[in-house]
Amino acid sequence: MAEERTYIMVKPDGVERGLVGEIIKRFESKGYKLVALQLLPTSRELLNEHYCDLKDKSFFGKLINYMLSGPVVGMVWEGKDIVKTGRRLLGETDPLNSAPGTIRGDYCIDVGKNLCHGSDSVVSAQREISLWFPNGVLSWERHNVHKLIYE
Ligand code: UDP
Ligand code: MG
Repeated sequence: MAEERTYIMVKPDGVERGLVGEIIKRFESKGYKLVALQLLPTSRELLNEHYCDLKDKSFFGKLINYMLSGPVVGMVWEGKDIVKTGRRLLGETDPLNSAPGTIRGDYCIDVGKNLCHGSDSVVSAQREISLWFPNGVLSWERHNVHKLIYE
């Protein structure tokens, strides 16, 4: 069975604040496997597609300007139940509701500067991965580590 994947993105504030390594570290130390990673400027076209479900929200314009304010780091992580667990590692959308120990709980305060994105379902993850990584991701084996993490 194919392993589950999710799209995780460090937003412009996270890149500028130097939190890329910290965010990668949370997923790495949990035991998940990195299968794609890129630093890139965003564009209105990509963001309109990425956030197509939120077009009618009052905060949509503000969100797009925030996401256009600098480069982002996009990544794809793979492993058991990664979509749901990835969201738990990030914390709640509103950082003030996020538990300490989560990324948003530990490093930010306002919802409009909440550092990171994580896919909200397996279907969204597939859509977001093909949007941000049109050339695909890397399938590779962790020969020794895999059996130390999974039973
Ligand atoms: N957002 C905002 N105000 C809100 C709700 C969301 O500025 O009231 C921003 C916030 O940056 C959030 C993004 O819009 O991460 C996408 O919203 P969504 O509901 O998809 O939250 P997420 O999936 O990122 O937790
Ligand atoms: Mg979302």
